[in-house]
Amino acid sequence: MPMLFDTHCHLDDPRLYEELDDVLTRAKEAGVRRITTIGCAHDVGSVTSALKLARQHPGWVTATVGVHPHDAKHFTPELGDAIREVGKDASVVAIGETGLDFHYDHSSHSAQEAAFRAQITVAKELNKPLVIHTRSAPADTLRILREESANDIGGIIHCFSEDHAFAAAALDLGFVSSFSGIVTFKKAVEVRDAARRQPADSLLIETDAPYLAPVPKRGKRNEPAYVAHTAACIAELRGEDPDALAEQTYQNALRVFGIAE
Ligand SMILES: [Zn+2]
Ligand SMILES: [Zn+2]
Repeated sequence: MPMLFDTHCHLDDPRLYEELDDVLTRAKEAGVRRITTIGCAHDVGSVTSALKLARQHPGWVTATVGVHPHDAKHFTPELGDAIREVGKDASVVAIGETGLDFHYDHSSHSAQEAAFRAQITVAKELNKPLVIHTRSAPADTLRILREESANDIGGIIHCFSEDHAFAAAALDLGFVSSFSGIVTFKKAVEVRDAARRQPADSLLIETDAPYLAPVPKRGKRNEPAYVAHTAACIAELRGEDPDALAEQTYQNALRVFGIAE
């Protein structure tokens, strides 16, 4: 049985939540021993959505809390305070996902940058790592992490979609890379190259479910069980034993999230 850690999914998404018991059972059957579900708050009322799930599944599901760059326009000082309060909970293992998404531009660049900087500050106050979402904004993401001294806490570049040079620059700032189903897509040449070259102790895996199902489930609704396909693909790319890679990425995730076992 492999030992897998899905470091990023959205269990509170209705597409997973409506059959959560079955989703979690299938994950266990696939060898998923831990899941971090991402709490994307839109307002003060939604800051505990992921934490509630973690509390229902102690030792198995952990949570994060933050404001997604898409929703940065909703970020307020009050919401920042609420994230800080929820972030103190032991089941909350990181702040985020936060960062920059200049592909969709659902919030203005200035709003995204302000919310990103504010959440780095919260993470530093709590001494918890950051989960970074970055799309079409590699230079600005690295610049802000540098300017805010985010290396004090480090964290994860989630759903890695850049190249090896970006992964290396992020690692210099204390950020490991987490690979999603994108790495199983043959055309994702740079992402596959980055996964091949990433140091073994700074490599994580995730589903980002319900999005981005890996081959051979591509196009379907994703779920944590499918992280096994991503692990197998990365092991093949690196010429490593799949169970050994699963174990290594599992241990990496425990370290980055500060989870003691
Ligand atoms: Zn994301
Ligand atoms: Zn996400």
